[in-house]
Amino acid sequence: MQPLYHNSTQTGGWPLLNVAATCTATHALGPGLRAVVWVQGCPFNCPGCLAPDWIPMRQARTVAPEDLVAELLAHPQVTGLTFSGGEPMLQAAGLTRLINLAREQRPLSLICFSGFTLAQLRDDPPGPSVADLLDQIDVLIDGRYVARQNDHRGLRGSRNQRIHYLTDRLAEFDFASGPRQIEIQVQADHVLLVGVPPRGAITLIDQALEHVCRARTAG
Ligand code: SF4
Repeated sequence: MQPLYHNSTQTGGWPLLNVAATCTATHALGPGLRAVVWVQGCPFNCPGCLAPDWIPMRQARTVAPEDLVAELLAHPQVTGLTFSGGEPMLQAAGLTRLINLAREQRPLSLICFSGFTLAQLRDDPPGPSVADLLDQIDVLIDGRYVARQNDHRGLRGSRNQRIHYLTDRLAEFDFASGPRQIEIQVQADHVLLVGVPPRGAITLIDQALEHVCRARTAG
């Protein structure tokens, strides 16, 4: 049986990451200016997931952690990383190496989202190196997204998800009930929606895109 976790390695045995997308500077996913890694592949398939394209367990961008560090730290004012997905805990070995390498260069904070609960991760980890990654995380936002429990507040998608302050480094930041914001970033060949959308934001974006398409067709 295939393991759930992504276990590709490069020559020398170090893990490779399977990355759906990256963002090198955002204010929408935690305090300060942050760089974000979204990994490819998630076992949960939550109805209403914002990133359905990143659920399939398929190969996306395969990259060595050491090759991703420079990209994520390109902006000199980035003070933290955020890992999301997809399911970061299925790539715990590669992400642990990534944060360790990045912290050799800068004292970064680390926020991680996971569909697994903290208890599951501690009692029955879904792959290797989960405990190592937990050791590096300052704030873990855990649990699956439940659309009917989306209260449109805070950095977690729905009320059932819990905020675990695993260190006191980001203890001042209100992850549970602060205002949400999103950013739309235009990258080389695609557009990226970054952040947890506030109430009505997706409808507004859909309407704006429809308006643009109609205007282009009419023109
Ligand atoms: S855990 Fe997150 S990424 Fe996975 S399906 Fe649920 S909402 Fe989507």
